[in-house]
Amino acid sequence: MNILIFGPNGSGKGTQSSLIKDKYELAHIESGAIFREHINKRTPLGLKAKNYISRGELVPDELTIPMVTDILESLSNWLLDGFPRNKTQAEKLWQALRDREIELSFIVEIQLAQELAKQRIMGRRICKKSPHHPNNINIEAIYPINGKCRVCGSELDTRKDDQDEAAIDQRLQVYYDTEEGTLAAVNYYQKLSSSGNFYHIILDGNKKIEVLKDELITKIEEKY
Ligand code: AMP
Repeated sequence: MNILIFGPNGSGKGTQSSLIKDKYELAHIESGAIFREHINKRTPLGLKAKNYISRGELVPDELTIPMVTDILESLSNWLLDGFPRNKTQAEKLWQALRDREIELSFIVEIQLAQELAKQRIMGRRICKKSPHHPNNINIEAIYPINGKCRVCGSELDTRKDDQDEAAIDQRLQVYYDTEEGTLAAVNYYQKLSSSGNFYHIILDGNKKIEVLKDELITKIEEKY
């Protein structure tokens, strides 16, 4: 099973991704996390990507596209999260999948209003032990416990680009741009899905994590 997942930062995309990657044993390829790892290790790619990321801008396609398509080549059963993020990436990814005869099973889109996404981004807290432990001071269901990770009790941190309002606005603007941005990529795959090769699952990001998870699994299992 190969899945593309879309949703603005703050929509619960990361949380749903962690849940379904465990359930279906998918490799979780998260472009933002790959960049953060490169930055932490101070690799040449990390050095080039760093300033774009801190401003909330997209890292240029010539760095991002090969980074992701090269990884896909060596994997089967994946969940791709954070890519494609614009129309060019959408087209190049489709081309790469076709060239390598890789089948797409689903695209999942979590919808959420821009203002709510912003609040949730600013409330996000990152567990120092695992990036897959959800904590958010603006979402009651995943509020940290006594200031620590609600899953494992570890210290919490914030992502630098989550506390910079200008960077958040920039990131969200890229997401909601239906001409060139991420919603343009969603629309590109929406059109392709109607030819019947894969399914487009739409979820309402206002719903609680558990409800979203059940809906997502039900929809996947109806079709797969
Ligand atoms: P994320 O963790 O998904 O919020 O990604 C963090 C940052 O990494 C983004 O704001 C971008 O600067 C960069 N990034 C992640 N994925 C992509 C992508 N597909 N294309 C360009 N830049 C990306």
